[in-house]
Amino acid sequence: MLFATPLYAQEAPAAGYNPESILALKSLQLLDQRLNAIGYRLVEANTPYCTDRIVQAGLLLHDIDQYPDHAIARFALGFDGPIAINAVAPDSPGAAAGLFAGDDILAINGMTVADIPLDDPEIMKEAMDYRRIAAVNNLLDNALSQGDVVLEILRGGEQRQVTVESRPSCPSRFQIEVSADRGASANGKIVSVTSRLAEYFLNDDEFSAVIAHELAHNLLKHRDQLDAQSVNRGFFGQLGKSAGRIKSTEIEADRLSVWLMINAGYDPQAAIRFWTRYGKEHGKGIFSASTHYRWKKRVDLFEEEMAKMAVMQPVDGKYAPPLLVKMN
Ligand SMILES: [Zn+2]
Repeated sequence: MLFATPLYAQEAPAAGYNPESILALKSLQLLDQRLNAIGYRLVEANTPYCTDRIVQAGLLLHDIDQYPDHAIARFALGFDGPIAINAVAPDSPGAAAGLFAGDDILAINGMTVADIPLDDPEIMKEAMDYRRIAAVNNLLDNALSQGDVVLEILRGGEQRQVTVESRPSCPSRFQIEVSADRGASANGKIVSVTSRLAEYFLNDDEFSAVIAHELAHNLLKHRDQLDAQSVNRGFFGQLGKSAGRIKSTEIEADRLSVWLMINAGYDPQAAIRFWTRYGKEHGKGIFSASTHYRWKKRVDLFEEEMAKMAVMQPVDGKYAPPLLVKMN
């Protein structure tokens, strides 16, 4: 494995992010791999409690067109063709199939990447450089939803065929967003964590606390709820009634996060450690705007949830999260 200079060694990752630098691409890939690994573990471990499930292989794919300099992307990330694997989550169907980052995807169930149609209206909504990867992801998702999938890959100049198991999990995918700001968000389907925030975590338990909070928003369908109530989530959404509704979704996300963490084998106490450290270092900011509880109150919520777990009998080592049970 190539060890790259981590992004945190730079002044400001977004400003200093030079897509033509091999180390920058490799650092970004390492963050994506870490996020994908923790995120997949959270969605996989909590599957029994999710009503809506999706089938995903724990793979993060990328397109060479996402990178301005193709020669550097080929060298740093192992592209031979247009579509390659960026990350494979441990213990995922992708890992079980023996797939690795750097493997090129040539065909999915016999459909070659070059022949995948890009004229679907949904695909046309994507920016030009993201249409092919969106189409490939859709094809893979659809194929997996119908059963095991045969992937044709290219590794070290050799063509191989692997079979990827169709295995359900809670919905959500994970991606790093290159930014100098510390932030994380959930759009209902994807959890995004900025590169700047991803570098801030001391360990995977802390990282899992933030991913679990954002994942909780997705699993509890908060985005749909807020849209249905036409809550203004923009700047003025911080005021009045909107703020109250958003705050209640934040409280729910905090409460559910520690259950998601413990079920995936992460230490829920890390949520307290992380948010306390973050709260002390950032008196103001995204996590403590009027819609978000101040960190001391958030710690109380985590402690309340952990007290509930302490008197519960786990089933197969897992604790049924009350907020998800309520949805079923
Ligand atoms: Zn939140």
